[in-house]
Amino acid sequence: MALTDFLVEELNSLKQAGLYRPLKELQSPQRPRSLIDGREVINLSSNNYLGLADDPRLKQAMIEATEAYGAGSGAVRTIIGTMTIHNRLEEKLAEFKHVEAAVVFQSGFTCNSGVIPVLVGEGDAVISDELNHASIIDGCRLSKAKIHRFRHADMDDLERVLKETDGQYRRRLIITDGVFSMDGDIAPLPDIVELAEKYGCMTYVDDAHSSGVLGKNGRGSVNHFGLDGRVTVQVGTLSKAVGVLGGYVAGPRALIELLWHKGRPFLFSTSHPPGVAAACLKAIEIMESEPELIDRLWENTRYFKKGLTDLGLDTGRSETPITPVIVGDEVKAMQLSDRLLEEGVFAQGIAYPTVPRGKARVRTIVTAAHTKEDLDEALAAFAKVGRELGLI
Ligand SMILES: *Cc1c(COP(=O)(O)O)cnc(C)c1O
Repeated sequence: MALTDFLVEELNSLKQAGLYRPLKELQSPQRPRSLIDGREVINLSSNNYLGLADDPRLKQAMIEATEAYGAGSGAVRTIIGTMTIHNRLEEKLAEFKHVEAAVVFQSGFTCNSGVIPVLVGEGDAVISDELNHASIIDGCRLSKAKIHRFRHADMDDLERVLKETDGQYRRRLIITDGVFSMDGDIAPLPDIVELAEKYGCMTYVDDAHSSGVLGKNGRGSVNHFGLDGRVTVQVGTLSKAVGVLGGYVAGPRALIELLWHKGRPFLFSTSHPPGVAAACLKAIEIMESEPELIDRLWENTRYFKKGLTDLGLDTGRSETPITPVIVGDEVKAMQLSDRLLEEGVFAQGIAYPTVPRGKARVRTIVTAAHTKEDLDEALAAFAKVGRELGLI
């Protein structure tokens, strides 16, 4: 027995369960029609909500900053890796989000793993929606705070946890995704904020899938509900609708300055290349000056969602551009995804452990860049394959 035989055995069990997924290769830019493994297909799996990933203005900003400041930043932010362009992006984000200050991390993932441990630690509690993103779960574990979960978006259950934990901890933090990445539903933030205020808890919203999607000019879920100033910490991503890479924290200045000193990925991992920061800044400017991009995203969302439900497919509780087609059976969900790809549509199949057992699905995401023709063609493929697999 070789020491690494267990790796092969684990892989084999994935293969036997029909859950082994080789990596697909994207051979073109991220576009509504993309070249995947040698074929042009309609892309319904990208988080490039506003089509900015391939926008010529972002590319130009990236090239110019690269020419001016170089390909890499050469150090962590706290040594000599804070360049003018990093500071300009953060000033812009703070102004955009109507908060005192903002700080950018290398990714949304590192944001959550770095920020949560600064807010809570031993003797504290995090109260977390059961469907929160993996990076929130990791951040909570790293914090050493006690983790209490509440049933997804269930405010009675949240209040139950709040009552049970009342007076038991030094500090409590309620944490939720703004938009849930596998179901596309929006967190009931007005109720969460009210409960947090009633029970004296801090609040933390991860707006990875709401940045650039919800709120005025894409300011996110907090702004969408008119809750500006009432949520302690907002985390956003620069990797999805913003089209580039990164995560940011928007909140009180004291938190931001403390993160300079205690946010571990900020302290111990190199900062973004200047081109990345410049392209992010350009994207925020475009979101401010071209609200029609977000209008188009929502027009496409309504059109495609209606198309899927008119076919009789189960789209669950989606309210956003993320629309799952829930199949239930894991192997069948993968078959649906595979057959759609043969029909020229790429929509990722998603199974346990990313979603609960028995809730396997194909997830679709439309963008502002899709045309009606793209969406009609995709709907025709769903109709054909859906009938073939007995889903409709
Ligand atoms: C995608 C996602 C992240 C991670 O963001 P990256 O910038 O890709 O690292 C964090 N939280 C949620 C809710 C996400 O959906």
